[in-house]
Parts: sequence; C-alpha cells; structure tokens
Amino acid sequence: MFSYRHAFHAGNHADVLKHLVLVASAGHLLQKDTAVHFFDTHAGAGLYRLDGDYARTSGEADEGFARLVKTLEGQAGQAIPSALQDYLALVASFDSKGQRSVYPGSPFILSRLMRPQDRLKLFELHPTDTKTLRANVAQLEAGTRISVSQEDGFEALKKFLPPPSRRALVLCDPSYELKNDYARVSDMVADALKRFATGTYLVWYPIIPRTEAHELPKRLKTLSERAGRLWLNATLTVKSSKITRDEDGELQRPGLPASGMWVINPPFTLASQLDPALALIAKHLAQNQHASYSVESSAR
Ligand code: SAM
Repeated sequence: MFSYRHAFHAGNHADVLKHLVLVASAGHLLQKDTAVHFFDTHAGAGLYRLDGDYARTSGEADEGFARLVKTLEGQAGQAIPSALQDYLALVASFDSKGQRSVYPGSPFILSRLMRPQDRLKLFELHPTDTKTLRANVAQLEAGTRISVSQEDGFEALKKFLPPPSRRALVLCDPSYELKNDYARVSDMVADALKRFATGTYLVWYPIIPRTEAHELPKRLKTLSERAGRLWLNATLTVKSSKITRDEDGELQRPGLPASGMWVINPPFTLASQLDPALALIAKHLAQNQHASYSVESSAR
C-alpha cells in the first residue's frame, strides 16, 4: 500500500501553488450560474492540522503557507495581488480561532467555493485518508452534492465525463509515489480530452531530476495542442535541486525544490492573475537565489 500521506506536506510551497491556481480557476467557472461539476481524482484527507504531529515533524508548512502569511504580515501595507488575496482569505476562513492551525486540502477548498447547484466528486485510495476524508466531509452536511469514493481516481473519472451540465473542473494531484503515475496522468488526460474536450483540467506535477517528471509537462503540452486546446503552465521554484554536503560531510538532499501546474482550457484571465501573485510568493518563499516562478501559456 502507499506510504504517502499528505498530512506531512499540507501547506507546503507545492500546496500554495496548487491551491492558488485552483481557487483562481474555480472562481472563474463559478461566475456563470450553470452548475459546475468538480472532480478531485486524488483527494487526500481534506483538512489538515498545521500544529499536529505530521506537519510539525516535516516542517513543510513553515517553509510554505505559514512562512508566506508571516512574511506578508511583517510587511503590512504591501499590495497583495487579487488572486493571492482570494487564496489567503479562503484558507483563513477555516481558521476560526485565528491560530493558523488548520489548512484546507483541495476537497475543502472546493467545498467552500461551490454553490448549491454544483457537485463535487472526490476519489482517494488510501484507506486511512479515505476514512478521514469521509468523516471530514460528513461534517459539511452536503448530502449528495459531495461524494467520496475509495477508488482509483485515474480510472473513476471516465465514468463521469462529459458531465450533464457540460461544465467541469478536474484536479489531478497524484503523489507520484509510483513511477507509473506519470504515464497514468497523461493517459487520463488524453482519455478525458476525447470524452470532454472543453473541461478545465488542472494537473500538479513535481519538478525534480527524474526523466518521467521532466517529460510530463512536455507530454501534456503535446496532448493539449493535439486536442486543439489552450493551455497554461505555472511553476514555482523555492530552492536549488542540487544535493550538497553539510559541514560533517553528510549528503543533504533538498526535498522538493519546485513544482508546476498544467492547466488545459484555462480561464482567459488566469495568466494575468497568477503572474503578480507568483512573483510575490516566489520572493517570500525563496530559500536561496534559485527561487523563481514562471507563467507560460499557449497563444490565443
Ligand atoms: N489533492 C490533495 C490536496 O490538494 O489537498 C492532496 C492529494 S495528495 C498529493 C495525493 C493523494 O492521492 C494521496 O492521499 C494518495 O493516497 C492518493 N492516491 C494515490 N494514488 C491514487 C489513485 N490512483 N487514486 C486515488 N487516490 C490516489
């Protein structure tokens, strides 16, 4: 069984990028009244404690969301781009006690954004995380509007495309614990574009020195262009990927240095929203001079 648990990583720099793009993309779709179907193929547990054992052990949120909020607070008066404001306000809305101890995963971000006419389908394979997700979702008392399935999200999506309202956003956020996940992402996207070419597809991917990881955005670009769809690729790098030695000569692996979000059929305002937001995020989350960001999109 998988050993990946998102509780160790919640609120890290990859979540900041992913959830910033998710909030901005979903917000655009929700401007029209017609129902939107949201799909989260790799949902995780839904809600995380940043003061719990998992987050404290990894310290990843301290280099991501927690650091971002602290730095922004220390520079009051600084203009915050609207996409970043929306993301920060949404996360803060889960923090009733103002202690910054709760961080919403993608299912809870989407559940907070959705309206009565929208639907959310969540897929998660890990038995413990599925159980936690079910318990968390039950508290929302959303009835049939939100469903949780312990299923392989890559496969399960097929059953629901195209959705009845012909409006959908799919988030595909695997842990890439299995080497095969990279190929499964492209297979899922290729299949989904055949079934429902006009959906908005968001794929998170790690930027690490591994051939499959390097190939994935190239593959997604080919798939998007072959299907005649517009795309956007946003990346955030917070440190170098180089393995170094500490003063005792021990090898120091950098952890995840960077990641990207590939968006197919992006809202037309997304690039201009993300650019200033990521510029500020990269500045505040930079761990060394290697920090950077990029927002690239197909010609319209
Ligand atoms: N999307 C979540 C968020 O932003 O809060 C985080 C998801 S985490 C990166 C990936 C999750 O996918 C893990 O909880 C893992 O157990 C689950 N998983 C792995 N393979 C899966 C599969 N084939 N189908 C569904 N879930 C899977």
